[in-house]
Amino acid sequence: MIKESELPPEQAAFREVVPAGDYFLKVVRAGETLRILDLEGNQAADTLFYNADDPAERYSAMDTVREQGNVYLTAGSVLRSNRNNPMLEITADTCGRHDTLGGACATESNTVRYDLGKRTMHACRDSWMLAINENEEYGLSKRDIAHNINFFMNVPVTAEGGLTFEDGISAPGKYVEMKALMNITVLISNCPQLNNPCNGYDPTPIEVLIWH
Ligand SMILES: [Zn+2]
Repeated sequence: MIKESELPPEQAAFREVVPAGDYFLKVVRAGETLRILDLEGNQAADTLFYNADDPAERYSAMDTVREQGNVYLTAGSVLRSNRNNPMLEITADTCGRHDTLGGACATESNTVRYDLGKRTMHACRDSWMLAINENEEYGLSKRDIAHNINFFMNVPVTAEGGLTFEDGISAPGKYVEMKALMNITVLISNCPQLNNPCNGYDPTPIEVLIWH
């Protein structure tokens, strides 16, 4: 569902451009609004959410999909935790659909899906691991790297229930915005994937904005 935001970017309390292949890690307080902006289009933002006060509580694709009765995320979706608590609500979305079934890229899956020679290519799991190693104060460890959301990524489910990685439906300037319903640690890998069309074979920067 396409829904535009009423929040002016110039009033954002925080703005940061995240280069392709880099990570973003920050706490968003309950009541604040987070926007992820696809600056150049066709980018995938692989995102994990945690309860900032207890990182053992984290985003759960299973609970979210079951409670809303739909596999796609868009405006109106409530992102739920592994304890079935509402973590964030998507309040605006100009892309229209986001994936939470496809998972994140890893060096292991790159070798299985594409080629043994892809073993050394940069992947989202590497960016997440780097983030938690460089920022120990967030209290995250390897076991917290769980299932994620792929904002802007297009993974349509076929009539037979199959999953396909398709060319993105996002475009320059499209964004998704969500309100935090608890204190949330946000961990984004701005996906460096070059082997499938999730980034249009050309990873590009995103921008993160936060309003108080
Ligand atoms: Zn990736």
